[in-house]
Amino acid sequence: MNQDIAHVSERPLLLTGLKIWDGNSYHAGDSIRIEGRRITALGAMDELSAGCDIRSLPGITAIPGLIDAHVHMELDPENRKPPAFTDPSVYPGMLTRAQAMVRAGITTARDLGGGAWLEMRLRDEIKADEALGPRLLCAGQPITIPNGHCHFWGGHAETPDEALMVLERQVAHQADLIKVMATGGQMTPGSQPKDSQYPESTLRSIVARASEHDLSVAAHCHGTDGIRNAANAGVLTIEHCSWVGPDGWGANYDPEVAATIAANQLWVSPTINRGWQRYLRAENPKPLARVRANFAAMRDAGVRFIASTDAGIPGVFHHHLPQALDVFARVTQFSAEQVLRSATSNAADALGLGAETGRLASGLSADLVLLDGDPLIDLGTLSRPVGVWARGIEIQPSVDAA
Ligand SMILES: [Zn+2]
Repeated sequence: MNQDIAHVSERPLLLTGLKIWDGNSYHAGDSIRIEGRRITALGAMDELSAGCDIRSLPGITAIPGLIDAHVHMELDPENRKPPAFTDPSVYPGMLTRAQAMVRAGITTARDLGGGAWLEMRLRDEIKADEALGPRLLCAGQPITIPNGHCHFWGGHAETPDEALMVLERQVAHQADLIKVMATGGQMTPGSQPKDSQYPESTLRSIVARASEHDLSVAAHCHGTDGIRNAANAGVLTIEHCSWVGPDGWGANYDPEVAATIAANQLWVSPTINRGWQRYLRAENPKPLARVRANFAAMRDAGVRFIASTDAGIPGVFHHHLPQALDVFARVTQFSAEQVLRSATSNAADALGLGAETGRLASGLSADLVLLDGDPLIDLGTLSRPVGVWARGIEIQPSVDAA
């Protein structure tokens, strides 16, 4: 751990004078007590201050540490070409990216694919305080068809039996969940986003085997057919959920499939990154209207969302979730509070971490961000953190204006 920018307080610490948004709503108290790695109380200062170092923070809002539900630690966003294989020399870059994330207030992230399980090594080093970064959940090699989306990571499988072999290989490498490419994607030449890669039956076998290992399944899905297969098969999260069909991006929304997603209590992880600003600036308003209509229809059907960026793909930086959340709200016209829940309490629940993080509450991990202003009034404040704690480690925040 880098002592210049991070340390754990020896004595109980009381942050006071705060406005507190706890992951769901405003909290009546103005103080948060941190002891070691945990939040041990929320409330009024006079009730909590005994024995504490006190830090008075008028005008500051505390929120839970942010969660990005879809990143690729291995990928360097400056690199425009997909890697042919994973070169272990990328590891120092992964350490740098992890540090940038936590300094931007991202205290948890889910890694949805790499080729050499380097993200598991990073996860374990962070957990052991040997590296600075967010708590990571890692999928390892995504299951994909031969020459299919991201096949270069080594998880290719044609038949159900081959798919289960790939799955078991990830389990052997201590995967926290399983990722499957239910449709093609954009990053791989020859792969089409609208095309399904597996029938529903294969996805069902993957979900069943994963659940024997107590693991959930995240399914990459652009095309509507693939979304339908994944939703019917009972994966936990639908990544992208782009509703692509013969008529293009977002053009094949299917209300029956959305109803299945809601009824099966799945989560949509829409990977809205900062680059989606292009929808707001575009001269042709049709794509924005289509995206907005799809999100409104999903929400009205009872679909739940978790924030995600697909960080690591070209131009999408790992520490830009705060900016992406502002774009998420503007593109979808969801409220700031709904978007913030998708990056805190809802994301933690979806990732199975609700008893550990995602909320400001006594007993949970001390994962929090301090902001100069109120993000419910202006999500832009998320980009300017003035304090960050990750698993009780106080971290020097960074402001990235780029
Ligand atoms: Zn991805």
